[in-house]
Amino acid sequence: MNKVWFDHGNAEMTVQGGALWGNAYKPLINARLNGWAVNGGRCPTVGVSGFMLGGGVGPFSRSLGMGCDSLIEISIVTADGELVTVGENNAPDSREGMLFWALCGGGGGNFGVVVQMKMRVYSLVGEKGIVTAGRYTWLPDPKDNHRTLLSSMFRFYTMDWSDRMTIDSSWFSDTEVENGAIAVRFIVYYDGNERDFGREIRKAALDRELEKQLQRRVLPEKSSRFFHETLVAQWDEETVRAFPSNGTFRIFSSFCFGNDAGSFVAINGIVKEELEAFRRLFKGEKNCLCQASFIHSGGEASRRPRDATAFRWRDTVYHAYIMMQFRDKFLERDMRSFLGKFKDRLRPLSLTKQACFVAFPDASLGDDAYEKAYYGENRLKLQQVKRMYDRTNFWGWKQGIKVPPSGNRRRRREAEEAAGNYEEEFSSGESVAPEDLTDQVASERWEKSFEPAPCEWLATGGPEGGGAWLYGGPTGGGARLF
Ligand SMILES: Cc1cc2nc3c(=O)[nH]c(=O)nc-3n(C[C@H](O)[C@H](O)[C@H](O)COP(=O)(O)OP(=O)(O)OC[C@H]3O[C@@H](n4cnc5c(N)ncnc54)[C@H](O)[C@@H]3O)c2cc1C
Repeated sequence: MNKVWFDHGNAEMTVQGGALWGNAYKPLINARLNGWAVNGGRCPTVGVSGFMLGGGVGPFSRSLGMGCDSLIEISIVTADGELVTVGENNAPDSREGMLFWALCGGGGGNFGVVVQMKMRVYSLVGEKGIVTAGRYTWLPDPKDNHRTLLSSMFRFYTMDWSDRMTIDSSWFSDTEVENGAIAVRFIVYYDGNERDFGREIRKAALDRELEKQLQRRVLPEKSSRFFHETLVAQWDEETVRAFPSNGTFRIFSSFCFGNDAGSFVAINGIVKEELEAFRRLFKGEKNCLCQASFIHSGGEASRRPRDATAFRWRDTVYHAYIMMQFRDKFLERDMRSFLGKFKDRLRPLSLTKQACFVAFPDASLGDDAYEKAYYGENRLKLQQVKRMYDRTNFWGWKQGIKVPPSGNRRRRREAEEAAGNYEEEFSSGESVAPEDLTDQVASERWEKSFEPAPCEWLATGGPEGGGAWLYGGPTGGGARLF
């Protein structure tokens, strides 16, 4: 299910539902089609279906729009086992048109299994198919109490970058790197040559060393090489972390920020303080990481209205997420409670004080909170589509779109909606308490990955009666413990 067909003449690509972005980039790479792009994910290991269903923010979304804006047609198998193909040619208020709208950002696991997608292929604007891309990790000197860090990052986030410029930034404190000192990693994708990139960077008036290194650590290259080699190099840590075989645990929360000056004075201050607190709290622990990543969006992705597709938070300029990573399962309670406080400080600064990116879901959002956080007012139309295509909630995802209520409850909700205050509700306090999720990630992994030991092992101390097993016994690929 990962075949890809590229129709060069019509600039369209058809991709099967199991394809990864690496599969979709391949025809462009193999034919060295420099200057051509599909609006895909940063990591070639991300699935095309999951990405599109979440809306999708790609390295060139600032000039091409959201990933789902490039969809022409999508085929799914519904809960009834029916194969349905819907697309942009369906009338928007028809059953099919509404399903297409819902599949563009309504999240995974809601309406059916995607088996095929047809999407547009675009021309980049850089001359001769050149893009300029790179990566730089900045370790700012903490001596001035991080005044340089804060002032540079303030200018960086509030700068009115051109649509050709995309720079993701991740602040982090890693107990394995420089004793957890604050660092910021920048990942650059520029649709154009090095000279034009440098000109834009210099306009931002960042710290001199940062400005210099951002220009030194990029390379101009043909776009086919960028898709083949550079995306992998830029995102290698994140890709490896996402492998199921990775032994660490990770918990997330996400936010949708604009880029107004008032918010970014506060956001930068909070991120700095929390990373410093993380460093103090987890000092001496091994393999602990706290990362606040800002995925650069806006530009063309923001130019359509919030209800153009199910993906609601189009006016986001930075899709941000906090990731806490740890290896020791006994740290989950402390990590969760740290994340809980960190996100409570940032949440009021997110769009409508509640927005969260469904592609980076937050497992701690409670039953009353997650639909508002992921979809805002778009959830009402999503619920209608859910009733049309999955009335019994066959797919049953924990944070799935709810089948809408009927009778009095429905009338009450319609009255609330008419009162017009629906989207402004602040969801603080609707989250699940961190303590209630203690031992969630480790126990979920245990339930999913390990077959229970047969009873006779328990009685005899192992299959040959000679001891216990570490990591699941012979079928679980583990080793004998004693
Ligand atoms: C390393 C990494 C980098 C990322 N970079 C980006 C980025 O640049 N931009 C961005 O927007 N997001 C990014 N993401 C987030 C990513 O878009 C989401 O995690 C997305 O859900 C991944 O989809 P998947 O198919 O790979 O994952 P899965 O975990 O397999 O699926 C995610 C969801 O989609 C559903 N789903 C998957 N396939 C299908 C299908 N065929 N039919 C129906 N439902 C399906 C699943 O049921 C699940 O609910 C990144 C994630 C990672 C781990």
